[in-house]
Amino acid sequence: MNDATGLAEALLGLDGFRVLAVSETLDEVCVTVETTADVVGCPRCGVRALAKERKRVDIRDLPCFGRPARLIWMKRRWRCADLDCDAKSWTEGSPQVPARALLTVRAGAEATRQVGELALPVAVVAKELGVCWWTVMDAVVRHGTPLVDDPARVDYVRALGIDETSFLSATRDHHTIYATGLVDLDGRILIDMIEGNAAADLRRWCGTQDPLWLEAVEVVATDLAESYRRGIAEHLDHTVRVAEPFHVVRAANRCVDKVRRRVQNETLGHRGRKADPLYRIRKLLLSGSERLDERGHERMLLGLRRGDPHDELLGAWLAKESVRDIYLTERVGEARVLLRKAIVGCKDDEVAEIRSLGETLERWQSEILNHHRTGASNGPTEGLNLCVKRIKRSGRGFSCFEHYRLRVLLHAGGVTWPRRPSPPRIRTRAPYFNA
Ligand SMILES: [Zn+2]
Repeated sequence: MNDATGLAEALLGLDGFRVLAVSETLDEVCVTVETTADVVGCPRCGVRALAKERKRVDIRDLPCFGRPARLIWMKRRWRCADLDCDAKSWTEGSPQVPARALLTVRAGAEATRQVGELALPVAVVAKELGVCWWTVMDAVVRHGTPLVDDPARVDYVRALGIDETSFLSATRDHHTIYATGLVDLDGRILIDMIEGNAAADLRRWCGTQDPLWLEAVEVVATDLAESYRRGIAEHLDHTVRVAEPFHVVRAANRCVDKVRRRVQNETLGHRGRKADPLYRIRKLLLSGSERLDERGHERMLLGLRRGDPHDELLGAWLAKESVRDIYLTERVGEARVLLRKAIVGCKDDEVAEIRSLGETLERWQSEILNHHRTGASNGPTEGLNLCVKRIKRSGRGFSCFEHYRLRVLLHAGGVTWPRRPSPPRIRTRAPYFNA
């Protein structure tokens, strides 16, 4: 092709459209287009239609050479030549531009990929394209829902992980609102996300699943929450329940944190501040003792000496280390002995928080040891939690759970994204300059 219109159409690359004009401003490229359909039949009776007036419709497309692009579509209205026909008149449509949409299909698909796969904030994508927040979110719902609902996304699952994440942090009007993530531990993907962390929420979800799918689950790994234990009792009773090491250690870490906050408050009368001895060692207290070097150890002991007059926090730290010890071995027998030791040690303690940790451990004994029995690995949920956090950060506070679920599943749900072009690489001509 060598005429200007042909060149413009090759650049535009939208089938079924013809370029009428191209103009540019400092902030965008405007491409005026019309469809190539010059002969149209009436959808009712098939009689050749007569062209009526045109209507200008402005649509956003993918940015063009670094500038946002505006398509100005001179949309035709058609009228049936047969005056008695019911079709009367209609406006033309195009599969490339959904009815009433502000984004072309390809721009909507790309926006969905950026929000889902790359976890970019909706507002950033919206600004980049030159549309408002809702336009992008609508596109993400339109293009993302079929990807998430694709039955091929989730296969039969052998090991199911159930984990709680916070959905909305507490405000003046409500407590922290939680969501429950369901994870394929072998495939390392998020299967689904449900609102709430109560037994009933989980039971309801199980109730909507295919019984054959539920039957195929062999191992269920949860954190130490009674609600999850009750939630799966009905539908997943045949499975081996495992308390994942990550969650068991987290329960011990929370005990350390609780004691630290209380001792802090009792000794200094306020919440931890930057210079307070216990606040300064809060991270050291939670890392495994084998990960601390000599300096770390010294700093921690110094902080405890200055801020923990009755050795309560030291007791909690020792209890936490005894819980971590359970995972030093892979053998069930040894683990059982170590767990027993941890439980007895905790339950004998004078500090209420540590006793309560001991009781939790006792209630979950068999689940904790099932980790050693099944050799189920720890890690996937932890990794997925990071993905979930990335989405939460990019959303800066969600209000609609359905949107949140969609975006989290698009990001961490193992979605098969539509194939994208993979251009041949153009090699650099001066490799050493770039290095
Ligand atoms: Zn007609």
